[in-house]
Amino acid sequence: MNAPAFAPIPFLDLKAQQARIPDLRRRIDNVLAHGQYILGPEVAELETALQNFTGAKHCVTVSSGTDALQIALMAENIGPGDAVFLPAFTYTATAEVILVLRATPIFVDVDPDTFQIDPEHLKCRIAQVKAAGKLMPRAIIGVDLFGQPANWPEITKIAEREQIFTLDDFAQSFGASLNNRRLGTFAHAAATSFFPSKPLGAYGDGGALFTDDDERAALYRSLRTHGEGATRYEVLRIGMNGRLDTLQAAILLAKLEIFEAELARREQLAKLYDEGLKNLVQTPARVANSVSAWAVYAILFETEAQRHRAQYAFKSAGIGNAIYYPRPLHHQPAYTQHHDGTPLPVSEDISSRILALPIHPDLTDAQAARVISYVRATVGAPA
Ligand SMILES: *Cc1c(COP(=O)(O)O)cnc(C)c1O
Repeated sequence: MNAPAFAPIPFLDLKAQQARIPDLRRRIDNVLAHGQYILGPEVAELETALQNFTGAKHCVTVSSGTDALQIALMAENIGPGDAVFLPAFTYTATAEVILVLRATPIFVDVDPDTFQIDPEHLKCRIAQVKAAGKLMPRAIIGVDLFGQPANWPEITKIAEREQIFTLDDFAQSFGASLNNRRLGTFAHAAATSFFPSKPLGAYGDGGALFTDDDERAALYRSLRTHGEGATRYEVLRIGMNGRLDTLQAAILLAKLEIFEAELARREQLAKLYDEGLKNLVQTPARVANSVSAWAVYAILFETEAQRHRAQYAFKSAGIGNAIYYPRPLHHQPAYTQHHDGTPLPVSEDISSRILALPIHPDLTDAQAARVISYVRATVGAPA
């Protein structure tokens, strides 16, 4: 049989990436040799490397991005009666941890161009909660969506005025920067994820917390190991089993070596897409003075029907794609009962028209060109 004219284009290609990680086997073999699978030397080595990478004073690795978010909120004693503000257009984990701790999520709409939390609407939502007088505004979780930074200068100003805690969910944006500073240092604490499909991904679950605050860092270390004190069997507080495995740390150390080159490649691909798709669909607006980690390259079609046609064409051509997110969180069954009914029109609108294209670092220029040609055909533009 002849090979098909075109091979499928995967949304993500971790197999191809594996071949580009020189130190992978050596790193894994080292762990198998020393056998310290929990909090082995690679965990501390990774924490130091990530501190250096981000410029944060402390890095505490944990078992996932979700656990990183939860530990950060636990450390502030956030719970019943507390309001935590977050964008409605994000992954469920951002909201989930708030409810796990029995606090109340307050969903905020996003900017129609950058899809990041809208600072003006954030101010309105804080004022609403204060006027109602039932909940105490305690924290803002800013999400750096798709690889780009949220509007941290504005979020920080608002949080300072209200004197509330800021948490940066940069699960999708490790490696991105704003004003020549890497993400991880813009809020009181920042949480990232090493889920395999994230810009810096492990071969399993993993995450990390970053902070410049010594007390918070110590609390995070305690909370990730069952609330332990100075000695192993002194239990100071209720914590969790939230450590990063040594094997995952070893894999991340190996991957960190090729990470900068991967970020550069993603940026090249984003430029190819921008050029090939401009004036046909809404391409991602760049946040000013920022460098994206390009976890996701998401375009907006004019209508849901047009997106549907694109997905159909992609499916027949074997082109990977994904909808992040088909519904804003306040419309998800698990969250409707926790939402006060405030319309969030931008989040509602973009979820019906958005589509993510493949942008992994092993995507070739020719593959990107093919993706572009299918999008062009869908919107009725000449190939
Ligand atoms: C992936 C993700 C998380 C959760 O990370 P896990 O490591 O999968 O637990 C949290 N927030 C956002 C925005 C994410 O994209």
